[in-house]
Amino acid sequence: MSSFNHRLDLTRAAQAQVQLIGVGKTYPGATAPALQDIDLAIATGEIFGIIGRSGAGKSSLIRTLNRLERPTQGQVVIEGVDLAALDEERLVLQRRRIGMIFQHFNLMSAKTVRQNVELPLRVAGMPAAMRRQRVDELLELVGLQDKHQAYPAQLSGGQKQRVGIARALVHQPRLLLCDEATSALDPESTQAILELLREINRRLQLTIVLITHEMAVIRDLCDRVVVLDQGRVVEQGPVWQVFGDPQHEVSRALLTPVQRDLPAELRARLRAAPASARDSLVLDLHFTGLGGQAPDLAGVLAALGGGSVTLLQGGIERIQGHALGHLRLALVGSPHGPLDLLTRARQVAQHAEVLGYVAAD
Ligand code: ADP
Repeated sequence: MSSFNHRLDLTRAAQAQVQLIGVGKTYPGATAPALQDIDLAIATGEIFGIIGRSGAGKSSLIRTLNRLERPTQGQVVIEGVDLAALDEERLVLQRRRIGMIFQHFNLMSAKTVRQNVELPLRVAGMPAAMRRQRVDELLELVGLQDKHQAYPAQLSGGQKQRVGIARALVHQPRLLLCDEATSALDPESTQAILELLREINRRLQLTIVLITHEMAVIRDLCDRVVVLDQGRVVEQGPVWQVFGDPQHEVSRALLTPVQRDLPAELRARLRAAPASARDSLVLDLHFTGLGGQAPDLAGVLAALGGGSVTLLQGGIERIQGHALGHLRLALVGSPHGPLDLLTRARQVAQHAEVLGYVAAD
């Protein structure tokens, strides 16, 4: 069994576009490493998210992928090339295959949109006619044809990030790194930029690695996610799985606000024990997306086995085709006790919990 798994791992690693093997990073003078024992494999065309608390090592990790940071241990291998083995000249060529976009766009304020996008091509020595054609194509791709003469100060945040994306794609990279790319944008621009990134990913088969503190970005865009804590990988997997059933306390803490906020009014009325038989038992059902089926309400009611059941709160969302979410039910007059109810509820939901009791009005 283990040798079979090992073989699978090797096959996966062989197909990986980006591979980190035992990567560690300790900054000069630092007492603790910023990264430790990082093993990751990212496949071509994947959208891969990195999350973690502030200081967990996200920026350090993403910056090892284009050697803005050099690991102090381990290897970063991109398309079979070990970045550490590259001399400066080959590193420049390799970096052209890796685009990067930033939270604050990093545009040159004294240059027009066209000049900003064109600059890396000038530096690379591309002839003017080819540059013009390439920039036109890219401005069309990001929907900024009309703005080619504008200066950054004349653009909205979303438009500035579109310029950043066009500039990141000038050398037709195979990998795009996004460092908090939507964190400075309003929700509407964020959605538009996510849509653009999705389209670029699909059309160009471009692998995207991103860090963000916005969990909704991970949920809406990524295929897989890794959770970092104190420089280590503490959890990784398909987004639906990590969001649906986070295993590590850090993942739970990061994902909790998205998942299970109890309304304040309900929280204030919740008691640990019933004061009378007329009080409602509050049952929380949690669907982690296993099986891919949306919760079957008739099945839920049948499993609970009688009494009055009211829906207090509920939310099911679909992530990568899996139904994830909660149903919060108030039960009165159930013929079953709390433990029995939990056993019954677990036949229809992946997790069930009695949150407490709410007094009858
Ligand atoms: P995150 O992006 O998750 O907030 P970082 O990668 O920025 O985390 O930081 C990880 C750790 O490394 C932190 O303790 C931070 O203080 C330290 N660190 C980051 N960059 C440097 C640097 N250039 N020099 C020294 N320490 C650094």
